Amino acid sequence: MKINNKLKHRIGLCRDYLLGKEEVSFPPIELIVEATNRCNLNCIMCPREKIKSAPEDIKLPLFRKIVGEASNFLELIDFSFRGEPLMNQNIFEMISYAKSKGIKTYMSTNANLLDKDASMRLLYSGLDLLEISLDAFSEETYTKIRRNGDFNKVINNLEVLLHEKQKIKNNLFVEIGFVPLLENYSQMDNFMSHWKNNPSINAARIKPFSTRAGLISNPLYNDNIPYKTGFSRNRCVRLWRSLSICSDGTVLPCCYDFSGNYKLGDLKHQTIKEIWNGKALIGLRKQHAGLTSVPLELCSRCELLRISTTKQSLTFLCSGLNLRKMLARFDKFYRLNKKIKRKEI
Ligand code: SF4
Repeated sequence: MKINNKLKHRIGLCRDYLLGKEEVSFPPIELIVEATNRCNLNCIMCPREKIKSAPEDIKLPLFRKIVGEASNFLELIDFSFRGEPLMNQNIFEMISYAKSKGIKTYMSTNANLLDKDASMRLLYSGLDLLEISLDAFSEETYTKIRRNGDFNKVINNLEVLLHEKQKIKNNLFVEIGFVPLLENYSQMDNFMSHWKNNPSINAARIKPFSTRAGLISNPLYNDNIPYKTGFSRNRCVRLWRSLSICSDGTVLPCCYDFSGNYKLGDLKHQTIKEIWNGKALIGLRKQHAGLTSVPLELCSRCELLRISTTKQSLTFLCSGLNLRKMLARFDKFYRLNKKIKRKEI
């Protein structure tokens, strides 16, 4: 899509969002497309036990159908949702296919399966941004958090990836992530000083902990997300910006709906445009735009609704990919940790 058209598209979505229009005049600019809902780890901060659907990788024909429908308007596909994308053998082909249609791509991985072959295939697939979720500075802490994971293997995989990236002069943006938890809080400083000055890494991020709309908690944080039973002044920007697609084609409002309770449609039988302005999503936007109530239990616990509508609308200023890169660069200054409220432990 040309820059002018992209800008027009985003301005249109932003206007509809600010006006609280239930039927949106432009299609979504981002899709989360779950490469798989399977995972090789069992991390303590992942609400995987809430998943109700059968273990499944997205099928290539379904993925191609989605990209075929969206290539004229989509800016970004994020392949991460409830599983480890590298568990899907077709992930490299899917990234290349999306890239061939002019769509940017993003993926988050635990990097346990990122051996040399996977690294090379990722680098040549044209992936734009890779986030490696590390969350620890020692093997002991890593093993406590990322159960079934192998810290030394991940570090080795990362080194190989960075070496190959440099060798072939590939411009994949590599970000290393750390979410502070009770289990790793004491390692945050070491983590940042070790990784933030590594010239091969584009960004080392201390990422804010998310309860994922109340699905999880961690004792490091005050339980400061109140359960609002009725009212929110703010509306969720995601309902005017993106869709989350499960590996079986089910469409959900966002990636916090782990259980798939709020089904908006099914891309095996419907189109993106039908679902985008379909009855279910229009109803949800109506609740958010109405300033009277947010009856869905899912949304009533969500951190996003603590951010004002005006602030959320600023996300339309740039693409989701650039937004991630900007946040990552900002985090290099290492300010987020100062905002973490610790409970007396
Ligand atoms: S408010 Fe939160 S839970 Fe509700 S749709 Fe938005 S991101 Fe999802």
